[in-house]
Amino acid sequence: MGLKSSPYRGAIALRGIGKRYGEDRVVDGLSLAISPGEFFTFLGPSGSGKTTTLMMIAGFASVDEGAIDVDGADLSAVPPQQRGFGMVFQNYAIFPHLNVFENVAFPLRARRQSEAKIRERVAWALELVQLGAFAGRYARQLSGGQQQRVAIARAIVFEPRIVLMDEPLGALDKNLRYDMQVEIKEIQRRLGMTVLYVTHDQEEAMNLSDRVAIMNRGRVEQVGSPSEVYERPANAFVGRFLGEANILEGVLERLDGDVATLRVGGLALRAVAREQVETGSRVSLFVRPERVRARSDADGNRLDGHVRRVSFLGNIVRYQVEVAPATHVVVDVQNSGRSSLTVDSPVSLGWSVEDSLVLTR
Ligand code: ADP
Repeated sequence: MGLKSSPYRGAIALRGIGKRYGEDRVVDGLSLAISPGEFFTFLGPSGSGKTTTLMMIAGFASVDEGAIDVDGADLSAVPPQQRGFGMVFQNYAIFPHLNVFENVAFPLRARRQSEAKIRERVAWALELVQLGAFAGRYARQLSGGQQQRVAIARAIVFEPRIVLMDEPLGALDKNLRYDMQVEIKEIQRRLGMTVLYVTHDQEEAMNLSDRVAIMNRGRVEQVGSPSEVYERPANAFVGRFLGEANILEGVLERLDGDVATLRVGGLALRAVAREQVETGSRVSLFVRPERVRARSDADGNRLDGHVRRVSFLGNIVRYQVEVAPATHVVVDVQNSGRSSLTVDSPVSLGWSVEDSLVLTR
């Protein structure tokens, strides 16, 4: 199915866009280039400026500085209803007085499409979200997940090249959210549209996205593929925001090529330094809990400690291990049902040097 009815190819450029509310710069000089067909997610804590950014792209919030281009053309003079973007928002409820068919037909009627065309397009969109049999139902006769699917069908029925989604799954429970992520991703892949997505849920962002922008206080901390931002965070904020992280503060003692030796609470630990760092500077060592092994005999960092806390999380067991006074390392171990570690057990930990990074901020 082609996308001939859309005027766009779907490239978006944010050129230093900013937004102020009073003294607050809630979006602070954002510059990003998003490719046609890319699934791009703004991820960050509440209040970091994600929704405001999306609203400026949609045209519902004014742009105080900078500009937004679509396919190289400045959008600033284009009113929201003429931007031709599909939109799905958490609170963008479907119309309760219209049945599913008429909800999905709505954007087509607004575009004065023929009755035959409307029937064809609505059937196509409902099939895509697996609601073909529900055309006659009203919102009150649908589950939350089904209502959200209607909202998605309504957003794509006119074949927009660009779709904006703001926490579209926020109201759904965890299992349903995962199923809907799979569906959204599948629809995006089939239609090849550009999706700009907003969420505060890091798993959702990583599952869906080609690239993620980690937002903090109106700025982008890092942009990259899910594995890049997870495995190689640019700083401690990104490392902590994307799941569990060990971030051990210390001093850089030595640098041999790109392998740094850090002094952390009396321990000497090695990690990869991606940039030139002065010896003697205060830095942190970053390592993910799943990269730390309990009872290690491999090469790399090795340290002894005592288990101080055991958290049973189902598929994994998370141990907090004290390796020096007031220095803890969190270790995730696959739950094999055979671990004998309990609180106060002595344990040896280890991880490969290449699994740990020096963070300078
Ligand atoms: P996010 O989507 O990341 O949670 P928002 O973009 O909604 O963040 O908000 C960013 C900041 O801007 C917040 O501090 C919020 O309180 C503020 N803000 C958002 N909209 C308005 C508004 N209309 N008036 C004043 N402040 C606003």
